[in-house]
Amino acid sequence: MINFLNLKAINNQYEQELKDACSRVIDSGWYIMGQELELFESEFSNYCGTKHAIGVANGLDALILVIRAWKELGRLKDGDEVIVPANTYIASILAITENKLVPVFVEPNPETYNLCLKNVRSSITNKTKAILPVHLYGLISPMPELMAIAKEFNLLVLEDCAQAHGASIDGKKAGNWGDAAGFSFYPGKNLGALGDAGAVTTNDDELAKTVRAIRNYGSHKKYENLYAGINSRLDEIQAAMLRVKLGYLDQETERRQEIANRYRNEITNSLIQLPQWKKDEHHVFHLFVIQTKSRDKLQHYLMENNIQTVIHYPIPPHKQPAYAQWNSLSLPLTEEIHQQVLSLPIDPTMTNSDISNVINAINEYGK
Ligand SMILES: *Cc1c(COP(=O)(O)O)cnc(C)c1O
Repeated sequence: MINFLNLKAINNQYEQELKDACSRVIDSGWYIMGQELELFESEFSNYCGTKHAIGVANGLDALILVIRAWKELGRLKDGDEVIVPANTYIASILAITENKLVPVFVEPNPETYNLCLKNVRSSITNKTKAILPVHLYGLISPMPELMAIAKEFNLLVLEDCAQAHGASIDGKKAGNWGDAAGFSFYPGKNLGALGDAGAVTTNDDELAKTVRAIRNYGSHKKYENLYAGINSRLDEIQAAMLRVKLGYLDQETERRQEIANRYRNEITNSLIQLPQWKKDEHHVFHLFVIQTKSRDKLQHYLMENNIQTVIHYPIPPHKQPAYAQWNSLSLPLTEEIHQQVLSLPIDPTMTNSDISNVINAINEYGK
């Protein structure tokens, strides 16, 4: 079986280092808010090129905490509108609704799956206060253009970087373009912990200080609470795991790019629509997503050929039962994408012959 993503094989590559890091934490006797977290925060901010990185419990919390902090700082308030791609994972939307702000769902650019600049502009109203671009599948959104729009209309920008660790434009990385960003280190992400973890990045000192307080009960000083905060801390064991894995992130990204380039160059079946990206775009391929009309049939065929695939995602957020108030919205492009997408195996530990097997099976499909 060719796995979609073999986490066991991925983490096995670093087994001894991970175990040593784990032992270091166990032996330290200090498990929350210690040196591993401090070091990871400084190593990750260094990697992203940002002034601050703040470890939190998961990617959803990272996004929630930024919006919450902006509310505490008086930069956002209940009912403000946030422009967000309609074709995203539900966490991007939950971060908005959890804070009692209003998501404005925008149809994507069908070639990149990311925010369409024209649709962003036409969705701006006098209630719009922020844009939440999602760097979907590992391709960074058109950030220079989005930042220009944000400046023109005085909007905050929160990047959802959960799928885009290390993606960049002109060498400037995801997480360093907007006013703030949220990262997830869920085990299956490009930089994955061995449990839940996330981070906020920003160059804004005041925002960083506020997020740091809110993630720890709203406490800026021990036993003094400035905000009615939450408990969303990144523990020492996960911080230690992430410090090991961060050292291999670029190497794993390169392998993902090799796999993606082979898929793009060698899949020739006309029933399959391949993703588009430009040579100068540093795409980190969290996912390699193809489209085809009879998606479920292709998935079934690949499974019979021992190739595991995943659908990201089968139901768009506005069609979820959780968001009944938006179920009748019509977003035809987003809905079509959700019916046609299929994610091929893109595991840095795949062998060259695994990649060839996937390519051959897809090229034989429908013959
Ligand atoms: C995974 C993901 C999240 C949420 O991250 P968690 O760590 O699972 O909370 C948010 N946005 C996107 C686009 C994601 O893929």
